[in-house]
Parts: sequence; C-alpha cells; structure tokens
Amino acid sequence: MTQGLTLLGATGSIGASTLDVVARHPDRYHLFALTAHQAADALLALCLRYAPRYAVLSGVVEDQDLRRRFAQSAGGTELLFGAPALEQVASDRECEVLMAAIVGAAGLAPTLAAARAGKRLLLANKEALVMAGPLFMRTVREHGATLLPIDSEHNAVFQCLPQLGAGTSTRAVRRILLTASGGPFRSAPIERLSQVTPQEACAHPNWVMGRKISVDSATMMNKGLEVIEARWLFDVAPERIEVLIHAQSIIHSLVEFVDGSMIAQLSNPDMRVPIAHALGFPERIESGATPLDLAAIGQLSFERPDAQRFPCLGLAYAALRDGGTAPAVLNAANEVAVAAFLEGKLRYTAIPQVIEQALERTPATQVDGLATVLEADRGARRAAAQSVALLMGKAP
Ligand code: NDP
Ligand code: MG
Repeated sequence: MTQGLTLLGATGSIGASTLDVVARHPDRYHLFALTAHQAADALLALCLRYAPRYAVLSGVVEDQDLRRRFAQSAGGTELLFGAPALEQVASDRECEVLMAAIVGAAGLAPTLAAARAGKRLLLANKEALVMAGPLFMRTVREHGATLLPIDSEHNAVFQCLPQLGAGTSTRAVRRILLTASGGPFRSAPIERLSQVTPQEACAHPNWVMGRKISVDSATMMNKGLEVIEARWLFDVAPERIEVLIHAQSIIHSLVEFVDGSMIAQLSNPDMRVPIAHALGFPERIESGATPLDLAAIGQLSFERPDAQRFPCLGLAYAALRDGGTAPAVLNAANEVAVAAFLEGKLRYTAIPQVIEQALERTPATQVDGLATVLEADRGARRAAAQSVALLMGKAP
C-alpha cells in the first residue's frame, strides 16, 4: 500500500525536488494533492504527469474552464480554488503525509491544519514556525502529529540527534551550530551593498532556490529565521544556538554535546537529501543526489558572521529574545521588504531598516492563539509598507 502525499507549493523549488524524490519511489507514495498559488499552467502540467486526486489554486477565483482542463487529465484531477482549499487537502483523511513547501506566512494556516489532523508533517515552510513556534509545537504534541524538518540545517540537526528527534528534550546538547554559506555577498565590499540588484541577490553560490529565500540567504535573515526555527523544533534556548559561516555548504549543521563531542551531517548541497531523509524516515531511501567526493572538495572553511555586514541576523535574535508576537512581526516585515526589493522599489541595505522600524512600531504582545499571530502579521505589514514608502528612492 502506498501512502497519500499532499504537496503544498508543488510549483516551487522544494516542490520540484520533492516530486523528483517521490517519482523514485512509486512503491511508497502516491500524490493525493498538489497545490500552487497562481501558476495554473505549471500546476496543470504536474497534474498531467502525476495524476493527483486534487489540485488547488489558492490565489485564483473559481474558473469553470480551468476546472474542465484539469478534469480532462488522465487522473481526472479535481481542481479547487482559494486558500481554504489548502486546509481541506492538508487535513483530508487520505492525506497521510504533508509536505509544507509554500513560501511565507501563507503556509501557516494549512500547515497548522495538518498538525491538528495529526499528520506526518514534513516542514520546509520555516515561516510557519517563526510566526507561531510555541503554538505550532503544542498543536503537534496535542494531536499526535509527527514533525520532520526539511530545512537542510534542521534536518541535519535532527540527524545528529537520532535518539531524540524534533520537539523532545535536548538536555545532553551544549550547542547547536547552524551553518550558513554567507550567500553571494559574503566578501563583497560593504560599500557596494546599497547598489546590489535583485538578480545579484538571487544568484546564490551553492543552492538554487525560490527568490524570497534567495534574498533571505543574501541578507542572512534566512539564518535568523532558522535560529528561531531551531529554538522551537529542538527546544533549545537561543543562547545555545550559534551561526557559523561555512562557504562550501557541505556540513549542513552540527550539534555539540556536553561531553565535548560534535556530530555533523554532510552531503552535497541538494535539497533532495533532506527530503528523502524525511520521506523515508526512519529508513534511508535513494534521493538522486550525487555522492560527496571529499577529496575533490579538499578543504572546508569556517568563520564567524560579521554583524555589520549581516544586521538581519541580530534583528532575528532580538525578536526571539523579545518573544510573543515579535518573531511574527520580524517575519512579516521581512516579507514586505524583500518583495519591495525584488520589485526594484527598495535598496538592498534598506531591508533591515524596514524590519527594525516595524519591530519598534509594533510592540510584542503575548500569543494566545492563531488570531493574535495573524493580527501581528497584518500590523507589521502595514508598518513595513509605510517604511518602504518613506525609504523608496532615498539615497543610501
Ligand atoms: P518557491 O518560491 O520556489 O515556491 C513557492 C511555492 O509556494 C509555489 O508553489 C507557489 O505557487 C506557492 N505560493 C506562493 N505564495 C503563496 C501563497 N500566498 N499561498 C499559497 N501558496 C503560495 O519557494 P521555495 O520552494 O524556495 O521555498 C518554499 C519554502 O521552503 C519556503 O518557506 C522556504 O523558506 C523553504 N525552504 C526552501 C529551500 C529551498 O532550497 N528552496 C531550502 C529550505 C527551506 P506559485 O508557483 O503559484 O506562485
Ligand atoms: Mg536552510
């Protein structure tokens, strides 16, 4: 019997890697549902190939012609419209495994719905955990869901903690070291950063990813979000989570134990490795990744991140310390700033300014449910949009 998989964000970068691994294991999985936001043609092409039971276009209004085109595919795929349909396919009884690979805050509600339905949850959408970490982890526990991290660093940490796993006690851990490539501007002259273009920021040296996470990697907000993600996934205090620049992206993260041992996970930078790990867990299955040739790589290097070059990292630690809704504010302001940068409206170096101003203007409150988180998200987007409007076109 194969397991039914719902893939949220099927038309994205993680979506493509997931489909590649799943196609290698037809004896294990069948696709129950595939989702996209607006990319109707790309989603239809995937449905023709993989014949899922459902497809969802969350950002498109009801369209009979589109529905007919999907229904004519060999699998007779039923097309659903609108964001609520994401929650439907994430919590359906026939979805046994959920890959959460939507980008940004939009992933929170359907991922939480899958947690509430007790699913086996493969989490790439780090923003969900950043926005609502404690609420998310409590929901996973209370509803008996299984949470497996897909983010390569967290998947690496998970692999270094085989006896523990995500969400359980990590008393024997002294430190978690999250590695970061440093992105495309690791050694660029700092005075040039105000002039960098979206195209330069998206040209990551080691990974091919969606545009939003590529910019986050350049600013190192991605690592900041990952510090917050690790804090909740592994229940480790923020001061025990460190970031280490490792330009080759071969070691995906390390765990140091109280006895002084360090365990690391290595592979070529290929998201199919963590995806296959989580899909197969606790077994190991073929991922399609090229084996690592350490002799060819020769050397691995490490350095501490430069706080001046990467101010977003400090902002993320500060939001984590402030707690409550602060990480949701950080995340929302970052999404607004990055979108404005990608549209050519905001300078690269103004991204941290927008986030800092949103954090200052939106005081953190306690989180007592999803509504508080979503309210903080909306407030932060308003504040960030105002900052963007003021900073637009301003000289560096
Ligand atoms: P992409 O931008 O490549 O893909 C995003 C996917 O989400 C697309 O299917 C897109 O649909 C869909 N989507 C976009 N906006 C919405 C919305 N508002 N509501 C519903 N669906 C939406 O992103 P990535 O695959 O790079 O990243 C996905 C997640 O995985 C992110 O949270 C990222 O941080 C995380 N991640 C990614 C890694 C990577 O290597 N790419 C590594 C580690 C984590 P459409 O095509 O219609 O726009
Ligand atoms: Mg990562």
